[in-house]
Amino acid sequence: MENCNNFENLIKNSKNILIISHINPDGDTLGCMCGLFSSIYKKYKKKAEMLIISPIPKIYEFLPHIKTVKNVSDIDKSREYDLVITVDVAALDRIVDAQILFNKAKHTINIDHHKTNDNFGEVAIVKPEASSASEVLFDILKELNWEIDSEIATSLYVGILTDTGGFKFENTTSKVLNACGELIDKGVNPNDLYKRCYESKSKEIILFQSHCINNAKFENNDKIAYSIIYNKDLEKYNVKNDATDGIAETLRSMFTTEVSFVAKEIDSKSCKVSMRSKKIDVAKICSIFGGGGHKFAAGCTTKYSVTETAKKLIAEINKEL
Ligand code: AMP
Ligand code: MN
Ligand code: MN
Repeated sequence: MENCNNFENLIKNSKNILIISHINPDGDTLGCMCGLFSSIYKKYKKKAEMLIISPIPKIYEFLPHIKTVKNVSDIDKSREYDLVITVDVAALDRIVDAQILFNKAKHTINIDHHKTNDNFGEVAIVKPEASSASEVLFDILKELNWEIDSEIATSLYVGILTDTGGFKFENTTSKVLNACGELIDKGVNPNDLYKRCYESKSKEIILFQSHCINNAKFENNDKIAYSIIYNKDLEKYNVKNDATDGIAETLRSMFTTEVSFVAKEIDSKSCKVSMRSKKIDVAKICSIFGGGGHKFAAGCTTKYSVTETAKKLIAEINKEL
C-alpha cells in the first residue's frame, strides 16, 4: 500500500508529531491514539504528543500512556507541528479548535473508517470497510512490519472491541476476529478488557441511563424510539456527557425499533444527536444536519433546540421507513 510508505516516511522524518482524537472521545479514537503513540515510540524512540478535545471517559483512563494527553485548551495553538495525525476523525469539525493545528502543520495524516470521511489531509488512509480506526492502524502496522507489543495490542483491542459493540455489530468480520486473535497472542487479556469497557459503569451512570430509558418516546408504531436529554438531567444525576453512551443502542435493542436516537441538549439552540438503526442508512440522515458516520451508527450536532431537533429528525426518518 503506497499510503503506508508515505505514513512511514512522514513519521520517520518528523521531529514534532501530534496525534488528535475526536470530540466526545470513544474507545476507538482513544485506543487508536494510544496505540499509535506506543507504535511510534517503539519504532523510532520518539514521543509524539496526544491531544483530546473533550474529557476522557473514566473507563478509558487505564489505556497505556493516556495520562500524558494534553487538552486542546492547554496547548499552544500557534505551534507549527512537523506532522499532525487525526485518528477516527470523520470530518475536521470533529476536532473543533484543534483544526488550526492541523491546518498549520507541515504534513498531515488522516487515519479513519467513516464512509462519510472525504479523505482530507495529505495522506488519507480511510477504510470504510474496517470496523474501526484501530483496525486500520493494525493493518498499517502489519503492512509495515512494525512490531506490536502487548501495550500496543491492548490499545488497538480496546478500539476494535468498543467500535464493534463487543463483537456484536455488523462490522464484526472474520478479519476482525482474526486480528483480535493475533492481539490476544501478543498479550491482550480479553476478559479484563471486557470488564473495563462494559462492567465499570458508575452507579450514577446506571441510574441516569435508567431515567433516560424510562423517558423514551416512540413514533410510527414504535419503529422510532428516542430519548431527549437535558443538561439538568446530567446535573441531577451528577454525570458527564459520556454517560449518554450506549442509550441509543439500548433503545435499538427493542424488537420493534427500526431507528433509535438520543438528542442531548448542548444549549437552547444546539443539540448533539446519536442515532442507531437496524436497516436504514442513518449516516445519510445525519449528513442532512451536517453530521455523518456509518450506515447503522451516526451522529450530528444541530443548530436547533432538542425538541425542534427531534421533530426534524423524526420527519426525515419517516421518509426512509
Ligand atoms: P456516537 O453516536 O457519538 O457514538 O457516533 C456514532 C458514529 O457517528 C461514530 O462513528 C461517530 O464518529 C460518528 N459521528 C458522530 N457525530 C458525528 C458528526 N457530527 N459528524 C460526523 N460523524 C459523526
Ligand atoms: Mn469514534
Ligand atoms: Mn471509530
